[in-house]
Amino acid sequence: MQETREQKKKRMVQAADALIEAMLDWDAEHATPNLTQIEDEVLTLRQQFGQALMGVVVGGQMAVQPATGVKCPHCGEEARFKGQKHKDVESRTGGLDIVRGYYYCARCRSGFFPPGQAT
Ligand SMILES: [Zn+2]
Repeated sequence: MQETREQKKKRMVQAADALIEAMLDWDAEHATPNLTQIEDEVLTLRQQFGQALMGVVVGGQMAVQPATGVKCPHCGEEARFKGQKHKDVESRTGGLDIVRGYYYCARCRSGFFPPGQAT
């Protein structure tokens, strides 16, 4: 199922809002931080926001995958769609937990995530 632009935006705004709250909490708890401490906190939150944006957009790309016509990377046999599964992916914005289509080849008796545009 694919999210609409508005649904994606809502999730991004929620992520931004949570991070802004975290920044304000941190600010309230640190009366006299030095520049390096502020910088560390901002960089951590920026990293988390990047991951949140990646999660929403990559998830949207994955939802576009076809359910049929996926070939096994080992033997070329047509593989069966087995549903959506979580997968950990490393990106330049940090680790991502994405949900994408998982397929199974009966001949090789193995499952796999077919390569997608976003990976
Ligand atoms: Zn196979």
